[in-house]
Amino acid sequence: MISRIDLRGSLPEDLRSVLPRAELDVEAALEKVRPICEDVRHRGAEAVREYNKAFGGVEQASTRVPVHMIDEALAGLDPAVCDALEEAIRRTRIVHRDQRRTDTTTQVVPGGTVTERWVPVGRVGLYVPGGRAVYPSSVVMNVVPAQEAGVRSLAVTSPGQREFGGLPHPVILAACALLGVDEVYAAGGAQAVAMFAYGTDECPRTDMVTGPGNIWVAAAKRFLKGVIGIDSEAGPTEIAILADATADPVHVAADLISQAEHDTLAAAVLVTDSAELARAVEAELAAQVARTKHTERITEALAGRQSGIVLVGDLEDGLKVVDAYAAEHLEIQTADARAVAARVRNAGAIFIGAHAPVSLGDYLAGSNHVLPTGGCACHSSGLSVQTFLRGIHVVEYDEPALAEATARVVALAEAEDLPAHGAALKARFDWEIPT
Ligand code: NAD
Repeated sequence: MISRIDLRGSLPEDLRSVLPRAELDVEAALEKVRPICEDVRHRGAEAVREYNKAFGGVEQASTRVPVHMIDEALAGLDPAVCDALEEAIRRTRIVHRDQRRTDTTTQVVPGGTVTERWVPVGRVGLYVPGGRAVYPSSVVMNVVPAQEAGVRSLAVTSPGQREFGGLPHPVILAACALLGVDEVYAAGGAQAVAMFAYGTDECPRTDMVTGPGNIWVAAAKRFLKGVIGIDSEAGPTEIAILADATADPVHVAADLISQAEHDTLAAAVLVTDSAELARAVEAELAAQVARTKHTERITEALAGRQSGIVLVGDLEDGLKVVDAYAAEHLEIQTADARAVAARVRNAGAIFIGAHAPVSLGDYLAGSNHVLPTGGCACHSSGLSVQTFLRGIHVVEYDEPALAEATARVVALAEAEDLPAHGAALKARFDWEIPT
């Protein structure tokens, strides 16, 4: 069901090349999303509705969800789900509130200061997936950091569902209602990203789009980056588990399966120095997958080239492997897990020990679940308040401070053969300006 890679002995120099990873052909997907985006740019909401029909089979009179439907969804929400969503919002909010930035002013020289002023993005579009599964939790993970950053205008979009008359899933609408969001669109895939980037007659354009999605969503974000701001590419989910002989194979297998459940392209990777644990996890996977609801999807994800069990000589090598892999989610299930976790450099989020499974982080830990995938965790972070803020440098120098800087600015300007730069300062002090 799941392949093995044996790296006991020495690790190869180019470790990344031997590790399991999906070959997502985003370039091929780009070719497909380019005409979709261009069409939405020229024909607006009509094109969005046509692609919603072509890929989702939904008939829609408008992409905008009427506000009363959002309120009705909340009224019809199962009380247990309502309670869970409210608690998820509360926990996510307190974590993200602590991420708020305060302006800083640095006195560079007497009379010269630089202030960094944090300003939220004006209007954002938040993508909530809804293809194979629907993700009310992604409403929380997108909306809460944007709200805590102080974003004034935010719109949510999620694919319309055939069984709900072309509207997004009612739990998604109810989550929007709980968060006070009343601008919601029923659109998915590349066409939804293009709707935010270019604007349509039903949806004013946004400055930025964030949120996870499948390969079409990721490709559209890559294609439209620049036209619109984006967060990191948060594609098909990944879990890596670094475990030793002390880990419980039942838990390890259950956690691998929990993320494989997202998508046939989801990645589940176990890195261990214990051949015995590897064998026990393989047996557990076979037993547990047979008992789950989405057996076919999970089996395909586990059997894919993106998943595998990596055997290493010791935990030192295990740490090198997980750093090279840079997983979206990394669990540490070893003795002294906190100390091992402290040494990890690359991961979207780290889950320590037996009582912090990734599923907790998907919903209720308070952490954000929109995280970089495909190895992007070596240079990017997950969604946070910071994603929605821009730091603006505000420069203030008085006359003596500028006078003191002039000779050095002129020297550097001349070294760059840009004499007009120096002249702009000299002009203020009656220095000779070259003709
Ligand atoms: P989705 O909303 O991302 O995609 C569905 C849309 O894809 C459809 O509405 C349709 O418009 C478009 N589409 C489908 N087939 C197409 C085709 N052939 N050509 C062009 N467009 C097409 O929902 P999904 O498919 O369920 O994917 C959600 C993904 O998000 C999963 O891979 C899941 O693992 C991932 N996810 C990631 C994170 C993260 O933080 N990285 C968090 C949650 C979910």
